[in-house]
Amino acid sequence: MDKQTPSLPALASHHVDPHAYPNGVAYLDGQYVPVSQAKVSVLDYGFLHSDATYDTVHVWNGRFFRLDLHIERFFGGLERLRMSIPYDRDAVAKILHDCVALSGHRSAYVEMLCTRGASPTFSRDPRDAVNRFMAFSIPFGSVANAEQLERGLHVAISHRIRIPPASVDPAIKNYHWLDLVRGLYDAYDKDAETALLLDFDGNVAEGPGFNVFAVRDGRLTTPATGVLAGITRRTVFDLCAELGIEANAGTVTVTALREADEVFITSTAGGIMPVTRIDGRPVAAGRVGPVTNRLKDLYWQKHEEPAWSSPVSYG
Ligand code: PLP
Repeated sequence: MDKQTPSLPALASHHVDPHAYPNGVAYLDGQYVPVSQAKVSVLDYGFLHSDATYDTVHVWNGRFFRLDLHIERFFGGLERLRMSIPYDRDAVAKILHDCVALSGHRSAYVEMLCTRGASPTFSRDPRDAVNRFMAFSIPFGSVANAEQLERGLHVAISHRIRIPPASVDPAIKNYHWLDLVRGLYDAYDKDAETALLLDFDGNVAEGPGFNVFAVRDGRLTTPATGVLAGITRRTVFDLCAELGIEANAGTVTVTALREADEVFITSTAGGIMPVTRIDGRPVAAGRVGPVTNRLKDLYWQKHEEPAWSSPVSYG
């Protein structure tokens, strides 16, 4: 952990087991603690019922990327779930900054979350629970590793259906991941590296922690409904507007995905990541395409620009 400065809040001193947890700092119950010490009660409904919402933003080269958008989405989730936290947007931003600064991370995966919490009587009425806000910073992690980013991911289309939006509103970023996790295991069984799930109509939806885009004749399409409105997905639209590339949210059939010129996925955990094989067959020539590369380069360039990113104050 980097040296602390007087301008930063104190880090509670606890024993850290470096073998069990990534290096990082968490905030909960008004304290900053090593991530290894950030514990949740077994009676918390965030754990028992997956009754929670969260958001993840990243820090790259010492700068948060589009933090305001992530905080806005998080507060939207809180409101829809009727949760309340004793912090406003600026206070949440300050806590996230502090977690990163105390960790000393230059590139980080930073999460803010709120669980329903536990109730003192274990009442089943969610209104009795005391909502709990937490945050943490751990080293930056990506859906795709360096080799996969270079040659493109190998994806399998799962027969599992992504939880429909009429059941769980994807505008609330959530931990309903059993479909995604089982899809991942299906993909591993087929020697693929990650999965794409379908919606109820059999069209492509999203994968474990990412949205997907198909490029055909220079035009981009991404699934319109039943998916999290990813900030990276939105960023792709913004970049396309700047570059004069046509991009639409619509229906992406499995056939359209298989027959695309290029396919890529988007996530805060990795940015814009190429896909070059679907169900064992190459996407077009099986190489990372020019549109993907162009968007990816511009995406990372924007991480240096003040209009898109804000510096962490390391003290
Ligand atoms: N879809 C799901 C289910 C996700 O969990 C995520 C991110 O965690 C995404 C899409 C991508 O969203 P973002 O670009 O905001 O990271």
